[in-house]
Amino acid sequence: MAAPRLDLDGEEIKPLKICMIGAGGFIGSHLCEKLMFETDHSVLAIDVYGDKISHLLQPGQAWSDRIEFHKINIKSDSRLEGLIKVADLVINLAAICTPADYNTRPLDTIYSNFVDALPVVQYCRENGKRLIHFSTCEIYGKTIGSFLPKDHPLKDDPAFYMLKEDETPCIFGSVDKQRWSYACAKQLIERLIFAEGAENGVEFTIVRPFNWIGPRMDFIPGVDGPSDSIPRVLACFSNNLMKGEPLKLVDGGLSQRTFIYIKDAIEAVQRMIENPKRANGQIFNVGNPHNEVTVRELAELMTDVYCKVSGNARPEVATIDVTSQEFYGVGYDDSDKRIPDMTIIKRQLEWEPKTSMYDLMEHTLTYQHATYAEAVKKAMSKSIAT
Ligand code: NAD
Ligand code: UDP
Repeated sequence: MAAPRLDLDGEEIKPLKICMIGAGGFIGSHLCEKLMFETDHSVLAIDVYGDKISHLLQPGQAWSDRIEFHKINIKSDSRLEGLIKVADLVINLAAICTPADYNTRPLDTIYSNFVDALPVVQYCRENGKRLIHFSTCEIYGKTIGSFLPKDHPLKDDPAFYMLKEDETPCIFGSVDKQRWSYACAKQLIERLIFAEGAENGVEFTIVRPFNWIGPRMDFIPGVDGPSDSIPRVLACFSNNLMKGEPLKLVDGGLSQRTFIYIKDAIEAVQRMIENPKRANGQIFNVGNPHNEVTVRELAELMTDVYCKVSGNARPEVATIDVTSQEFYGVGYDDSDKRIPDMTIIKRQLEWEPKTSMYDLMEHTLTYQHATYAEAVKKAMSKSIAT
């Protein structure tokens, strides 16, 4: 018999039944894989789509009796409460979380990220269930330093840009900048969950992901998603590269992001699941502070790496500039810089990310090329023919 797996305090990890809402998305699919391949936990996987986990749902696999898919829209399905009741732990990933939607579908965004999450919190409180809720790094909004004049020396002082869970204020744009509908809805649900912990003793952990990327993120427009929808930057740039067209830099591509490989991030979530005493009552930044690039640098890197993995020649014109209004429409605004402070997660969970920007991009673009390049070519020749 295999030796029991131990938590960070040397105690045996008992198998859990996990109700995972949004399990069919990018993060959910990787978390389900991790739990099926490397643990004894069971998953009640809830989503409106199951395609990204269909490989785990085939009968006859070693984990087949540990995962069940429930095609449920949590907006309007009375089965949700029953599934939460029989679980040991609830993980809520369900959300509208693509920036192109925040200013064009602000009502759907607010309902999805706040209103639809309310019954989940309520059922956890009423049934005494532990909750891991997915929030966002966008909760921080803009950095304090973004309000300093250009080239001001204090811009280089970490006090003006480092994002700390228990200190940094949340700074959003004005209400007509509907980009912030998402961040604001996430902030309110975080505050509500925090208050449920403080007033009613709900056991919770809040996760703030900082640009997790990897295989299965979003969709390629016109291939496995609507041709007129805009996914997050990884899929936008992958699509441009596979089509052989320039990558579009919104407002000059000056914004900065730190990217973390999905598999590193999932290790952190596994530690939260398996170390409740260390994770309960905490808000965790989960990102890689060492992988910072401007969006322009990201475009350059992705172009280099894609040429390597596809064997294509480097295009003469790799990028073009577009305004945010042209690209996203009215009401778009941006976070200028996102560097996660790692003190709390290092202390509580002894976790650190490992994968460099180059390596994560190589793994990811190898996947994008193998999965989509042919289909993108076919879709292009079809649209030329019609
Ligand atoms: P995703 O869109 O791939 O996954 C979300 C899943 O939730 C989708 O499969 C969707 O079908 C499902 N869903 C949405 N509404 C639902 C409903 N009403 N009923 C049932 N299922 C529903 O996104 P993701 O990148 O996996 O993100 C997961 C969570 O992490 C989200 O809460 C998001 O806000 C947060 N997050 C992710 C990142 C990142 O870097 N990927 C960054 C910040 C925050
Ligand atoms: N972006 C871009 N071109 C694109 C898609 C996105 O320049 O084709 C920029 C976007 O304006 C933002 C950054 O890339 O500054 C990251 O966008 P993403 O959609 O991944 O989400 P965010 O990090 O803003 O939540």
